[in-house]
This record gives sequence, structure tokens and C-alpha cells, in this order.
Amino acid sequence: MTGLPGDPPAQAAAPADFSRDQPAQDPGVSRDQPAQDPGVSRDQPAQDPGVFRDLPGQGVVVAQLRRAAAGASALLAGHRPEPGALAHAWLFTGPPGSGRSVAARAFAAALLCGNGGCGQCASCHQVFAGTHADLLLIRPEGLSYGVKQTRDLVLRAAGKPTGGRWQVVLFEDADRCTEQAANALLKAIEEPAPRTVWLLCAPSAEDLVPTIRSRCRVVTLVVPSSAAVAEVLTERDGIDPDRALAAARAAQGHIGRARRLALDASAAQRRAEVLRVPAQATSLGPALSAAAALVRTAEEEAKAVTEELDEPEREALRRAFGEGSTGKGVAKAMRGMAGAMKDLEDRQKSRATRVKRDTLDQALLELALFYRDVLMVQVGADVELANPESDLRQIAASSTPEATLRRIQAIMHCRDLLPLNVAPLLAVEEMTLSLAQG
Ligand SMILES: [Zn+2]
Repeated sequence: MTGLPGDPPAQAAAPADFSRDQPAQDPGVSRDQPAQDPGVSRDQPAQDPGVFRDLPGQGVVVAQLRRAAAGASALLAGHRPEPGALAHAWLFTGPPGSGRSVAARAFAAALLCGNGGCGQCASCHQVFAGTHADLLLIRPEGLSYGVKQTRDLVLRAAGKPTGGRWQVVLFEDADRCTEQAANALLKAIEEPAPRTVWLLCAPSAEDLVPTIRSRCRVVTLVVPSSAAVAEVLTERDGIDPDRALAAARAAQGHIGRARRLALDASAAQRRAEVLRVPAQATSLGPALSAAAALVRTAEEEAKAVTEELDEPEREALRRAFGEGSTGKGVAKAMRGMAGAMKDLEDRQKSRATRVKRDTLDQALLELALFYRDVLMVQVGADVELANPESDLRQIAASSTPEATLRRIQAIMHCRDLLPLNVAPLLAVEEMTLSLAQG
């Protein structure tokens, strides 16, 4: 077996493979070693999903990652890993919600676990809690990730793993790197420290500069079926199967969102408010109030998300600077804290902007999906609908497929305007007026 789909040819991966780490050039030893001796995977029953349990419908990816984790363990044990199984840099791609960061996290756990990613041991728990000493978790909070931050990260990533296995850098939303940041990152990926593994996540491989992309092993996640997502919600979270399936359909394969819709009444409530727009947007006055309601709903949701994060971060910073203590050097430390607090607040502000924009965008996508369903009903297509058919029927009957297409275009146009610093309310008003016109 020579590689799964998505594996680049062996020579293309040369800068990033583990050839430098091969056990001593003693052909005698490695020849005696069966090529397929991952050691670890044999100890683990094939049926036990372990750390990969949250990846419904991603069989190909899970097999690829298991093979790599087994190869990494083989290497640490001084055996020759299966050819092509390993890489120093990985790129996890897939549409939002397909679980690229979940897959990367599971792979990090599998690399750091002495048991192939059992999901039970202290190491696995620490990876999922984000507290493992050998896991550097990077989650850009603003709209971009700068060169200074990246240089700091590259320095930290060059260290030796404290647990004796690997130093794993998990970089979510790596596509937010600025061009200079990408260049700083490239150097680290071209010449990785022997025990460092880079896991980058981005919506698609094209979102990263070609120089980085070509040095990564690409892992491509697919959108799981609603049935696969519902099964996870039912089995793991104990959600009633009908409710799980409705939430999975509404979330279009986005497992985290499906879980929130099934469990969090306010998330379901906000979705219901978004979906009230099509029925409201009928003439000028109601269309404008629908726009105001849509923007307000998105802002409320964004506020709920950021407030939950902001205060604990400020608290942690105050503790780190020992606020309230007395003694020599305290005044100096306090001045240091003021600067750090200002940095933190700037980052939080930038995150709030991003969350607000993402939340409104999510609402617009839901609206577009509603009209996609309307269109499917209008043309009689046999596809799975994200919304209950009863909600769609009246709108489908009172308009034409052409009008529905125009409405979808108006929503997509609004999505294009928002990143251009157009006032959200103005852009959304323009959209709801187009919806009203049909
Ligand atoms: Zn484990």
C-alpha cells in the first residue's frame, strides 16, 4: 500500500518527511524489522475509535491519521515506520464544521499518547483540555495573525518535547497568517526541529501560500451526512434521535453547531428568528425591521460568545502579575501589567469584531440555505432539506424559481459587502429590500 488519496508523491514530501530521524543507518536492524510493525495499533482494538470518535463520516482521514500515529510510535520505538505514513507538517482542510480542528486535535492526541490515542489516559485528556505541555495550540483571535506572533511561535516550536514524544503545534485558521507571517512559518516548516510536528488548519489548501502548502501532507475532510452527525449526537450526548436528526440537517453537517442547536435553547431561538425573515420581508417597512432584527440577533449572539471569554482572560492576566501583592518591584510589575492589559484588550476588541462578523455571516448562510430549500421544493428536486418542508411550502408556492435565485444572490451579495467595512445594518437592509422585491 503506497499512500491514500491526498498523499503527495514520496519525493515531493522530502523536505517534510522524517528521513533525518530514521533509526541509525544500520540496514541490518531495519531489514529484520517487519515493515508493517506499528506496534501500537496492534494493542488497540480496531473497533475502538479512541480519540477519533468525534469524526463521523471521515473514515478515509481517520485511517490515514491512525497509520501516521502508528508510524510515529514505531519510529520512537526505534522501528522503521511504514513508508509515506509520516510527515513533519500536515494541513487539515475541509469546509467549516467538517471538523478540521477536531481531526487535528485527535491526531495531536494520538501522537502524544503512549497508547496510540486511547482517549482515556492523562495525556489524551490534557490534549483535549488544551493543557498538554507538548501541545502548542494557536487560535488566531483577530482577523489576521502577524509576523511577530509567528516568530515567537517558531521559537517555541523549536523546543524539545518534555514528554519524550513529540512537540505538536496545532495552528487553527492558519489562513489568517499575513504574508510576512507565512514566510516566517515557512522557514520553520522547511527545517523543522526533529521532534516537532506542525498541524495547520485551513478551509482549503488554496487558502495557504503554495510554498507552505507544498511542504504539508494534506488531509481533506468531507462534510459528513446528517445521519452520521445525528448518530454521534444520539450516542454520545444522549439526544433524542428525531431531535438529533433535525439539528444535524439544520446544521448541514456542522457537528458543533448541530449539538448547540439540539442542546442550547437560545441558539435554537436565534436560528428561529433568522428564519422568520423570509416571511417578514414582504414590503418596505417590515423588510427594514427584519434587517434591524437580524443585525441585533447576530450582535447579541456575538456578545454572549465574547463576554464568556473576555473576563476570565483579564482575570488570568491579573493573577499572572500578582495583583494585590506588596513588596519590592511591585510598582514596576504593575506598570508592566498595564501594558499587557492594553495588549489583551486590543486583542479582545479585534476578536469581538471577528465574532460579530462571523455570527452575522452564519445567519446569512442560514437564510441562503432556507432559500436553497425553497428552490429545491419549487423545482421538485429530490434532496435532503435543511429546513422542515412545512415552513418552505408557502414561500415556494408564492414565488418562482427565478425569484428565489435572485433572493439567494442578494444574500450572497450582502455577504460579500460585510468584509468591506460597509455598515452591517445598511448592507442587510439592502438585502431584505431585495428579498421583499423578489
Ligand atoms: Zn491516551
